[in-house]
Amino acid sequence: MKIAKNTVVTVNYKLSDAQNNLIEEGAQPMVYLHGGYENTLPKIEEELDGKEVGYASTLQVEPDDAFGDYDAELVKVEDRSRLPEPLEVGMQFEGMADGADDEPMIFTVTEIADDKVVLDGNHPLAGMALRFELSVVDVRAATDEEIAHGHVHGAHGHHHGEEAVGDSDEGDHFRSQPLH
Ligand SMILES: [Zn+2]
Repeated sequence: MKIAKNTVVTVNYKLSDAQNNLIEEGAQPMVYLHGGYENTLPKIEEELDGKEVGYASTLQVEPDDAFGDYDAELVKVEDRSRLPEPLEVGMQFEGMADGADDEPMIFTVTEIADDKVVLDGNHPLAGMALRFELSVVDVRAATDEEIAHGHVHGAHGHHHGEEAVGDSDEGDHFRSQPLH
């Protein structure tokens, strides 16, 4: 079966930066619903469209087509007392950007001083060119329900639990974050 709109694609991947430093080994394959559902980067869909099981490729994606450029305005300094303890670099919090009244964003703690904390609202992969080594291991037709929901169900896909309303999809970062 060829990869086309409304197929479910299972792909093994390895993610590196443009200098070939490994970012993510991809211990679990990525499973996504193909066809513009924003389950993965559009460049990846473009690369895999029309391909079949066994297709392998290395794809480089520039920041514009991945997680955008790094935006220094998304970095803010907070009083440490406003954040929970214990606090560690790398922890993430949901919050609002200063002056923004739209979607809450995820901030990552990048520095901790005595009484101040630096929070960075950029995606951890913002500003980076990314290199994906992709290898297609399965292609199947999506179910009507998957198409209606716009995401994959089952083993590696989306699980509907009691809190399914919030639809907090904790997938791999490059397929669960909003795309720019
Ligand atoms: Zn669903």
